[in-house]
Amino acid sequence: MTFPHQPTLAETDPEIAELVRKEERRQFEAVRMIASENYVSRAVLEATGSVFTNKYSEGYAGKRYYQGQEHCDAVEELACSRLKKLFGAEHVNVQPYSGSPANLAVYLAFCKPGDTVMGLGLPAGGHLTHGWNVSITGKYFKSTPYGVRPETHRIDMDEVRKLALAERPKLLFCGGTAYARTWDFPAFRSIADEVGAVLVADIAHISGLVAAGVHPSPVGIADVVTSTTHKTLRGPRGGMILCKASHAKDLDRAVFPGLQGGPHNHTTAALAVAAKEASTPEFKRYAAAIVANAKTLGEALVARGFALVTGGTDNHLLLVDMTPKGVAGKPYAQALERAGIVCNYNSIPFDPRKPFDPSGIRLGTSSITSRGMGASEMEAIAGFMDRAVTHIADDGELARIRSEVAQLTARFPAPGILL
Ligand SMILES: *Cc1c(COP(=O)(O)O)cnc(C)c1O
Repeated sequence: MTFPHQPTLAETDPEIAELVRKEERRQFEAVRMIASENYVSRAVLEATGSVFTNKYSEGYAGKRYYQGQEHCDAVEELACSRLKKLFGAEHVNVQPYSGSPANLAVYLAFCKPGDTVMGLGLPAGGHLTHGWNVSITGKYFKSTPYGVRPETHRIDMDEVRKLALAERPKLLFCGGTAYARTWDFPAFRSIADEVGAVLVADIAHISGLVAAGVHPSPVGIADVVTSTTHKTLRGPRGGMILCKASHAKDLDRAVFPGLQGGPHNHTTAALAVAAKEASTPEFKRYAAAIVANAKTLGEALVARGFALVTGGTDNHLLLVDMTPKGVAGKPYAQALERAGIVCNYNSIPFDPRKPFDPSGIRLGTSSITSRGMGASEMEAIAGFMDRAVTHIADDGELARIRSEVAQLTARFPAPGILL
């Protein structure tokens, strides 16, 4: 039996095939420092592109609404058992489509519309889904955000406690997107206990560091832990919820049928692969190297007159206040892109500038560490960044930096990219 030839992507859609090829080249040549991004392995990419994308499997392993689930059940069970072991969690739900839906499921499990919730405010480095006003979580719930101290830009635990005592939130979130310091989960636990709040640790950015033991774990301390799977954890784009067994039923029901339909089984398969990779000694070394690189890059930038919010970092990210350099975050991020260095402009705490044109940039070292870069490359990158700031309007110099950046990255293989 011979079947007819099945056209490849390039044959069916040369335009998209070409864009994939160009994006591969861009990701290979650039120094990618967006703190929420990474390079997944070839194995994770392969599972993501598998036939599990064809399958519907509403429900959970062993309790599905459609037939034909033997392999989907096995995939989801493997993903869950590996993640439970990796994080030491009693229960895991791997079905949330991404980090934001994972958080929404927590609201649905514990809150009624109008209930009070508390999280780090967006301008101080929190996430939209922790009750910020433009998010559904700020529109359907009463949000009373806490902030950071004006002098140190670190979380103000006295303010958290005072606000929590006054507002009695149903949910207390800890976690953020632009906070470079260690989260004190036990301190949040004692405040949550004092006011009777459900403590939710959102470790979207740091879950790879937590898995590897280079950031303290909230598992066993927080009632619920939510995360993306594609940031430092280096899995496919997705979300997950870890919780105590006592909350398992409520959270599972909130994800399905409360919020979602069929799970993305191809993503679950890839997440199982990522969980296996994250259980290796090699991943522990990787996570430690992410933090070491962030510290080295931070010191190299400070040595060149850059200002870091909180003065440094404990994790994978750096928030840089560009004010002392006399440029705003956005034009600098745009100049860096022309120089082959990709990051994002970002508000800093108490930013006098608008969110769309803020004072800072955010940098992360998870992607460049995935390529095996180390201390000498961090020095080189800081040097490029300094040249770019002094030549911000000099396209010739930015192009020269870009070719030097490409020479640097050419020496480091990028996981998943076979050029
Ligand atoms: C990235 C992030 C999310 C949201 O993840 P998406 O996958 O983009 O929906 C939620 N919380 C925090 C703290 C994040 O950093």
